Amino acid sequence: MSLPVPPGPQYADKQFYINRGYHQIPKLRLSMDRIVKETVGLRPFRPSGPRIEAEQLGSKTIVHNYGHGGSGWSLSWGTGNMARNLVMATPERKIALLGCGTVGIATARLLQESGCEVTIYTKDVPPNVTSNLATGTWSPASRVCDPAVAKPEFRGVWEDATRYSFRRFQFLLGLNDIACWTDEYSVRNEVPTASEHSAGGEVYEIPGLIPERVRLGKKEHPFAADFVTRRSNLMFNIPSYLHYHLQDFLAFGGKVKIHEIKKLEDIDALPEKVVVNCMGLGAKPIFNDDELIPVSGQLSCLIPQSDIQYKLSTEGANFIARKDGIYLGSNGIVGNWDTTPSKEQTEKVVGILQEVMKNMRG
Ligand SMILES: Cc1cc2nc3c(=O)[nH]c(=O)nc-3n(C[C@H](O)[C@H](O)[C@H](O)COP(=O)(O)OP(=O)(O)OC[C@H]3O[C@@H](n4cnc5c(N)ncnc54)[C@H](O)[C@@H]3O)c2cc1C
Repeated sequence: MSLPVPPGPQYADKQFYINRGYHQIPKLRLSMDRIVKETVGLRPFRPSGPRIEAEQLGSKTIVHNYGHGGSGWSLSWGTGNMARNLVMATPERKIALLGCGTVGIATARLLQESGCEVTIYTKDVPPNVTSNLATGTWSPASRVCDPAVAKPEFRGVWEDATRYSFRRFQFLLGLNDIACWTDEYSVRNEVPTASEHSAGGEVYEIPGLIPERVRLGKKEHPFAADFVTRRSNLMFNIPSYLHYHLQDFLAFGGKVKIHEIKKLEDIDALPEKVVVNCMGLGAKPIFNDDELIPVSGQLSCLIPQSDIQYKLSTEGANFIARKDGIYLGSNGIVGNWDTTPSKEQTEKVVGILQEVMKNMRG
């Protein structure tokens, strides 16, 4: 990327210290003893992209909405809207919805908005869902497909879902900080390729949807790195977000039943004729989806630090400040079903970020 270095601060910079001569950013206090939680979540990845389609199985219409890889938070409203349209094409308004992660909850709310009576049947509810183990950033193209496998028309589907989701997130701003804008720094010594800016190997982009990255001059940042960019990005405070929307779902008359689907016959036994499948990775054994595979991602959670309100990514590590903690991560191991956190991985990420902080001015 060949962004020109601007001559100096481009706006009134309240963190610019005249006596020091550079823009100051608070330093992350980082040590192994400040880590209070480690998790490994399994991204539900399909090389051809998420499955959003209707299928007739016996007497039931199944509307699939699963397999969002590393972008399920970001795309939840967009693919939820597509699933809703498929449901609304049927005459049924009493709907069963399988799964209570971010995709299921968003889809359920949209169905309610269209006048449906929705019952969620699910093995687990938050916090015991993969969605609770995510970073929580706007990343609609992160591990969403393998472009070598996805059909050309998937790009249009992705773009529609992304635009719909983005608009929807604007309505969530200011609601107890469940979604908000944050500064995101990329700190590198080499000029990264577009996909290296984030860990998710983004293949698609919609220019102009969020502000572009701006390359910072030496006086505009305190990092000891040659190539530093900043942009504003959306982030989600995951526990309060899931809680908020689940409460909304219940307030609008939705029902949640703890009910594990073990085989197709269990779906057949449900009273509703239309069933929306938002089971994430759980859809694999029920619908024999060979394509669906896990891409594991480990996160380590630090005690919150009130002055740290930004996101930072560098070669091999990143962190994001959420209300419930500062999350360090995250890697992606394709095909890995093991959800045991690796101490080695935690130490690696902590080591990389400690080095960035140690070399920061201030
Ligand atoms: C480390 C990591 C970081 C991530 N970061 C981001 C990010 O920053 N931004 C982003 O957009 N995305 C991110 N993701 C991806 C995102 O978390 C997933 O795409 C998303 O959580 C998938 O949501 P879901 O609702 O489909 O699945 P889940 O959250 O897994 O929900 C599935 C639901 O189905 C239920 N279920 C499963 N099997 C059955 C069954 N047999 N019977 C009944 N119910 C069943 C489960 O109990 C659960 O309620 C990240 C993922 C990981 C792991």
